Amino acid sequence: MKTIGLIGGMSWESTLTYYRILNERVSKALGGYHSAKILLYSVDFAEVEAQQHREDWTAVGNLLADAAARLERAGADFLLLGTNTMHKSCAQIERAIGIPFVHIADAAADALLQKGVKRAALLGTRYTMEQDFITERLRARGLTVDIPDAAEREMIHRVIFDELCYGRLLPESRAGYLRVIRRMADAGAQAAILGCTEIGLLIRPEDTDVPLMDTTVAHAELAARMALGQA
Ligand code: GLU
Repeated sequence: MKTIGLIGGMSWESTLTYYRILNERVSKALGGYHSAKILLYSVDFAEVEAQQHREDWTAVGNLLADAAARLERAGADFLLLGTNTMHKSCAQIERAIGIPFVHIADAAADALLQKGVKRAALLGTRYTMEQDFITERLRARGLTVDIPDAAEREMIHRVIFDELCYGRLLPESRAGYLRVIRRMADAGAQAAILGCTEIGLLIRPEDTDVPLMDTTVAHAELAARMALGQA
């Protein structure tokens, strides 16, 4: 079994989901007492968030590149970054390591295409929705990506930083997200991409008849298959 390197803590609430899925998938595949081999570098999210807020992408990229190099030195066979937003720094991280970097948008695109989805709505931080580091990667795979309107983006971003990253799951925010998903599905999206690693804590597939594609789940499942030599 390969050793998974995971840069987590962005926020730690979603790193718990990664840790659970990686272990569940390996345990299911191998049975018995088997569990995933994981090296976790969990950052202090306050440092990351402050640099995001200042839009100092070079500084936060350096912090993550350093974490990536440490995981490689510690013996990780490949690397995951447990946040959509910080994939903005993926080039900087990739330059710092010799092991494969498993991009969250590639995992998401594979999962969508496998389900026959060609057009999907993307929910995430304003960085993820408004910049191109995730959308272009999805579009390069032939997917049409719809972005919420300005007021919706503001609400989605605020809920991520003011609530989800603190582990607060509020029914009115769930309802707000579901309204956006419904509107965008009515406008033609075949699925909603939960393009922030905390959104799956708030919204569950049973909350809506619109198919959901949780990037955390897709990313962790791909990593488990890679660790098992199945991908
Ligand atoms: N976990 C979030 C994401 O997937 C947001 C936290 C961050 O800004 O890194 O984008």
